[in-house]
Amino acid sequence: MVDKSNILLIYTGGTIGMVKDYESGALKAFNFDKLLKNIPELKLLDCHINSVSFDTPIDSSNMSPEHWVEIAALIEAHYDSHDGFVVLHGSDTMSYTASALSFMLENLGKPVIFTGSQLPIGDLRTDAKENLITSIQIAALQHNKKPVVQEVGLYFEYKLYRANRTTKINAEHFQAFASLNYPELIESGVHLKVSQESLLPYVRRKKFKVHKHMDTNVAILKLFPGIGPAVLQGVVDIPGLKGLILETYGAGNAPNEPWVIDILRKAKEKNIHIINVTQCSGGSVSMGRYETSKQLEELQVINGKDITTEAAVAKLMYLLGNNVSFKLFKSIFETSLRGEIQEN
Ligand code: ASP
Repeated sequence: MVDKSNILLIYTGGTIGMVKDYESGALKAFNFDKLLKNIPELKLLDCHINSVSFDTPIDSSNMSPEHWVEIAALIEAHYDSHDGFVVLHGSDTMSYTASALSFMLENLGKPVIFTGSQLPIGDLRTDAKENLITSIQIAALQHNKKPVVQEVGLYFEYKLYRANRTTKINAEHFQAFASLNYPELIESGVHLKVSQESLLPYVRRKKFKVHKHMDTNVAILKLFPGIGPAVLQGVVDIPGLKGLILETYGAGNAPNEPWVIDILRKAKEKNIHIINVTQCSGGSVSMGRYETSKQLEELQVINGKDITTEAAVAKLMYLLGNNVSFKLFKSIFETSLRGEIQEN
């Protein structure tokens, strides 16, 4: 007899489990048991499913790093007894949480699949059932008794992506996520088409380790035509700020007016890390390619390359939380830790 996989479902909230509050007309989270009753098909799956739920399921707009730690701690507590994990999460901040978890779970050797839906599970046209059922199947997928996926993934609308490569791109379409700088890991059609060369390779891993300290003394500033010194200065003057993600134009360009470099230089002197991430959804920062990024390069601003803003903010909080020294910070940030960045 073949042993069945043990899968743990972690329910955090999100549209997938919401119902309409008839008084206000707004969608609100509801009880997990009711959610499971809406999918009797789960019993047909060839695996054991256990579940845990946040005491109070939340809309993912209310997610915070404390909740990330709660999810990480649940995975840690059940790591040895389960073969895979499926996290049900609202889509709004799913890419942030899933990116954060990819850093917090070091030497991960089992699948952690995030999913959710655009319509509640009780809705006639819901996308929740397919998303949930296939996520569970992917979490249970084994080859030669080893999990096929050994990283944090995000499954939505027939595609499994590397979680820290994703961005929510649409508030209405069932295809709500994209991974513009990295190919899908698995495509779901009649069969599950696994793209083996895109998955993080199996390596004899060191001991699984969960990092629970994320430092939130960070900020994101998106450049816009017309931005003046007061805005940039106001951000770098935030008390306790340790890291700033600068969402620049195109291939990492910023206005080459003296005040920009001047403010950034002074921020660096105060040991604030500055990371250059493009505000384009796809493509990479390439500092020095244009005159408008030359000075950023000379200032030794950290090159975010093709990282998403979601992964950049998670990586920044993670590295700060791990007390990485100022000297090493740039080279570690520019290195791929969990497949989140194309190094060259
Ligand atoms: N507002 C919801 C949330 O992120 C949207 C969703 O679940 O898709 O929790």
